[in-house]
Amino acid sequence: MPPFMTASILIVDDSTFIQRHLEHVLTSNGICDEVLKAGDGQEAIEVLDSENVDLVLCDVQMPNVDGFELLRRKRADLEEREISVIMLTVEEAVEAKVWCLEAGASDYLVKPFHDEELVARVRLHLQLKSLRDELRRKNKELGRLACLDSLTRVSNRRHFMESLRHELDRASRHGLSLVLGMIDIDHFKRINDTYGHRVGDQALELVASRLRDALRDHDLLGRYGGEEFAMVLVDVKPEGILVGAERCRRLIAEEEFQVEGHRLQITVSIGIAVSTEPDAGAVDELIQQADEALYAAKEQGRNRVVLAPSSDSATES
Ligand code: GH3
Ligand code: MG
Ligand code: MG
Repeated sequence: MPPFMTASILIVDDSTFIQRHLEHVLTSNGICDEVLKAGDGQEAIEVLDSENVDLVLCDVQMPNVDGFELLRRKRADLEEREISVIMLTVEEAVEAKVWCLEAGASDYLVKPFHDEELVARVRLHLQLKSLRDELRRKNKELGRLACLDSLTRVSNRRHFMESLRHELDRASRHGLSLVLGMIDIDHFKRINDTYGHRVGDQALELVASRLRDALRDHDLLGRYGGEEFAMVLVDVKPEGILVGAERCRRLIAEEEFQVEGHRLQITVSIGIAVSTEPDAGAVDELIQQADEALYAAKEQGRNRVVLAPSSDSATES
């Protein structure tokens, strides 16, 4: 079914005779089942504010709020929603047509017009709207995908860093503490060496998915590099700082991962740094502290959570 078959069209005209005629033309040509109607610009604004509208057919001269005033008041909203407006005008002068288009209308028809021409233009603008809507949807989806790591579907490093800066800024403004965790899979090279890279890839996906499950919705998780992930725990009370990280570590360690018939025992080491008084240079410093704590966790035997010495005081409630 063509996209315009379900179109929602608003007819704005102070003449009920013209409203009914336009309604008849649109419904009898199968463009829509029913139409929305408004007697002037003010009524049209109320309909636009409450209904889903694809296209507006609008008279120019109307009492109270006329067609131009309607365009002036609703232009930004109409553009944002990709709603085309076809002006219906008795004015044949070129200046009037130009005025319509400059005011934000997508098209105009000089009255009296042939019904076939109206139908053709309505169909054209509905098709254009449908294409623009589709383009918007795809752009949004592309924007979302551009933030994700293609293997594990968690944030990629660039997006994680952006979010970390944003969260650090927010935490700073509200006097909240922020917890950064660097997570590195232990002896991951052995998994690749023993079972092959493909199994290694699937293991990475599973670990990312378990980490996501272990975190709260508003915590952040990103793939920082190879087999290293980073997380941000927000709005954490002092006594909860190590709890979230420990939950992640335990969840991974306790699971027997199944990949292509192989049973994998996987553990992670986690380094934690807490930012209680963030300032401009805090991001790099925080990452370095968490990295050093991660290194210490590896040194101490892996499969553990280590808190950066500089963050010790943050866990005391
Ligand atoms: P450690 O406990 O010290 O962290 O040991 P490790 O073996 O995990 O650390 P190392 O840095 O020596 O090796 C990391 C391995 O992770 C090597 C690399 O091939 C593997 N790796 C990184 N990215 C990917 C990936 O996308 N897929 C797969 N399958 N392996 C990856
Ligand atoms: Mg590793
Ligand atoms: Mg590593």
